[in-house]
Amino acid sequence: MSQRSSWKSSTGLTEEVGEMPEKKLRLAICRGATCSGCDIAVLDIHERLLSVLEKADIVFAPTIMDAKYEDLEAMEDNSIDVGLYHGSVRLSENEHMAELMRKKCRLLIAFGACACFGGIFGLANVSDREEIFREVYKKTASTENPDFVTPEEVYRDKKGHELTLPRFYDDVYALDDKVDVDYYVPLCPPVADQIMTALNAIISGDLPPKGAVIALEKTLCSECPRKKSERRKIDKIHRPHEVELDPDTCFLDQGLICMGPATRAGCGGICLTANVPCRGCNGPTKEAFDQGGNMLGLISTIFGICEEDLTEADVEKIFKQIKDPLGTFYRFTLPKSMLRRVRKGDSR
Ligand code: SF4
Ligand code: SF4
Ligand code: SF4
Repeated sequence: MSQRSSWKSSTGLTEEVGEMPEKKLRLAICRGATCSGCDIAVLDIHERLLSVLEKADIVFAPTIMDAKYEDLEAMEDNSIDVGLYHGSVRLSENEHMAELMRKKCRLLIAFGACACFGGIFGLANVSDREEIFREVYKKTASTENPDFVTPEEVYRDKKGHELTLPRFYDDVYALDDKVDVDYYVPLCPPVADQIMTALNAIISGDLPPKGAVIALEKTLCSECPRKKSERRKIDKIHRPHEVELDPDTCFLDQGLICMGPATRAGCGGICLTANVPCRGCNGPTKEAFDQGGNMLGLISTIFGICEEDLTEADVEKIFKQIKDPLGTFYRFTLPKSMLRRVRKGDSR
């Protein structure tokens, strides 16, 4: 079997790790702006972690071992075989880590929706630093801060001691906005089978072309067993708690937004199985490109509006029915979408 064809079969979500490499791989897991769910996802491969550890040593992983930045800085460039970076880039500290990982790792993987697309934190791109600080350090009910004291990048106490803090950027970025990325493993967080597919490919050396997304190259709808009508037509969009949901019928046919048509398969439809519509954390397929824009086009056709003639009034008609359009269509991908951010002064 050729290297390439064996990779194709492994996108069917391989369970086992590959052949033992001649020498153990050196693996690093590093944090950006993260909730650390992606760290836990690695531990969630359960007993398969033992077989991974037979083939790879974890040399840097601040969440699960005592590891300091200096430890990583002291390592030789390109001395780590694979680096998993999870979280988005929000602070100068995250950018520094991204650059460091790029220098030290031969392969750098954007691990999880935040690293791949900016993720759920990317929704903060409707705002900017000043507005966020005002909200957090002044307006919240539990905050008493009449002088509006906010974190400063450099603080000197009376004795002249200097304390530095990372810079808080106006925007949230995906990892590849800052450094070159070799592979992408999306989902929020990646599921065990998807992680094993990636690790298996790395350990066996049977890698796809640089830049590949380690997920399936088809939409979630294509493997969803729910009954779908031939010609969808709805006139009202509902929220999940407003209707009794039929577990066997397509959510869109029931008037609920499900991001399945614009989302990659590969998660095993975990939300759908729990009778919850897909929110799109596996990101867009290559064809969908802009996940939110693609869904908006689809929703407009379901409303009987011709996609090509989509006017601002049509968009408004659809948006009015959706409680949180940006959070619905771009929940995980705003920083990598065509919109990228909402400009200050735009209506929200
Ligand atoms: S992808 Fe999800 S689980 Fe991973 S860091 Fe982002 S929010 Fe957390
Ligand atoms: S829209 Fe959602 S529920 Fe309908 S077929 Fe696609 S994934 Fe399944
Ligand atoms: S069903 Fe959608 S939201 Fe749920 S895990 Fe899969 S891709 Fe993510």
